[in-house]
Amino acid sequence: MRLVIKYGGTSISNAKDIQSVAKYINLQSNKHQILVVCSAISGTTDDLIEISESIKKENKSKAEQLVSTITNRHKQLAKQTIKKPDVRKKLLTKLDSDFVELLALIDGMVLLGEVTPRSMDYLISFGERLSIQLVSSALNDSGKKSIPLTGKEIGIVTDSNFGESKPLMDTTRLRVSKTVETLFSKKTIPVVGGFAGADQYGHVTTFGRGGSDYSATTIGSCIKANEIWLMSDVDGLMTADPKIVKNAKLLKEVSYIEAIEMAQFGAKQIHPRTFEPLLMKKIPMKIRNSFNVKNEGTLITASSSAKNTVKCVSNIQNNGLIDIQGGSMVGTPGTAAKIFATLAKTGINVMMISQNPSESSITIVVKNTDLDRAVSILEMELLGKIIKKLDVTTGVAIIALIGSGMRGTIGVASKVFGAIEKNKVNVSMITQGSSELNLAFVVKNSDTNVAVRALHNAFELDKIN
Ligand code: ASP
Ligand code: MG
Repeated sequence: MRLVIKYGGTSISNAKDIQSVAKYINLQSNKHQILVVCSAISGTTDDLIEISESIKKENKSKAEQLVSTITNRHKQLAKQTIKKPDVRKKLLTKLDSDFVELLALIDGMVLLGEVTPRSMDYLISFGERLSIQLVSSALNDSGKKSIPLTGKEIGIVTDSNFGESKPLMDTTRLRVSKTVETLFSKKTIPVVGGFAGADQYGHVTTFGRGGSDYSATTIGSCIKANEIWLMSDVDGLMTADPKIVKNAKLLKEVSYIEAIEMAQFGAKQIHPRTFEPLLMKKIPMKIRNSFNVKNEGTLITASSSAKNTVKCVSNIQNNGLIDIQGGSMVGTPGTAAKIFATLAKTGINVMMISQNPSESSITIVVKNTDLDRAVSILEMELLGKIIKKLDVTTGVAIIALIGSGMRGTIGVASKVFGAIEKNKVNVSMITQGSSELNLAFVVKNSDTNVAVRALHNAFELDKIN
């Protein structure tokens, strides 16, 4: 099999873990062709972002202090992880030249006194530049041929939308497959830095936080991988949050469309665009735990065979609900457009929307942290015009049932709200798209556990597999 195995930062955050990752890849590479993708070591991307904040505040000494934290962490890891003196020496020399470049970059940014989107991407791409050196050297140390490559070096070419770039797939496919085939023919394991690529002028670009998942699937589709494994510190996707439901189960199999819905809620956050490259080529993906490799994890395929109506009950707490009312909204085209344009202008993300056919109110849910800004911008711009009144409820939770088996199945809603009613929980808003993939409703934060447990029971999710 041709496999892309991606490691999140927590899977490679100390010497012992890096060694066991190397050992695992070493074993797998006897049976399979492996390409490894790595995130930055945990905490490094956050530190790099903090460096940019310090530069903006003209606090050069803080920036330098953070660089030395990053430098020491990686040097220490190199010394603890690598046993062979020649491999270790080569690694330390390479790391040193990266640190010199990082310091020079920071000097330049301090001198200019500004952080541009372009310099920011260059800066935050360093986490992966460093982590791949460690993992690739650990493979060398274990006796395998391996080289580290950044996203730019492997051939990921993106647009110039810094901070949220997208690969230009045709060029990327040509370049990535050429680089990788050459390495595979030499039995060399590529260890590729996730999260970043470069635009057509060679400027480093990133995909947004968590973007290494997206790197893995992008590369997987370019090299026609048979499977992609995302390794992190959770066993896979679950039927519910195990902190709420004691007998929550690991989901053995879900479809892409179900996983896309689940990715936004669960313990394993997946970069939203991760699935895009898979959809066309239908490459199966697994969510697995690097600390528990005996467990096969969750398999995600184009069409999952399991027939359960509902696969999981998710929850997102700490949101605010705004009920927007006004008589002049009735039958007036453009009302919704005005409301959402106003919110979008302020950078507010709307998580849930519903409007009843009388058109006299539109209800939306936003994060608690966005609530004040959302209410004040709506009041300032639209109150007294198209809006007559805003009713705000803070501290609400979204409960969502996900599963493509709900489509066309009669009685799902009655089962859901029957179970909720029995537990005397009040529902303040309901949405279901016509895809019938996701049925969501809103309750008070304090009712979350009761509601999630009631539904987990009603749909017998503890017996799912
Ligand atoms: N290192 C980047 C981040 O922390 C990308 C990733 O981990 O996927 O967001
Ligand atoms: Mg990550």
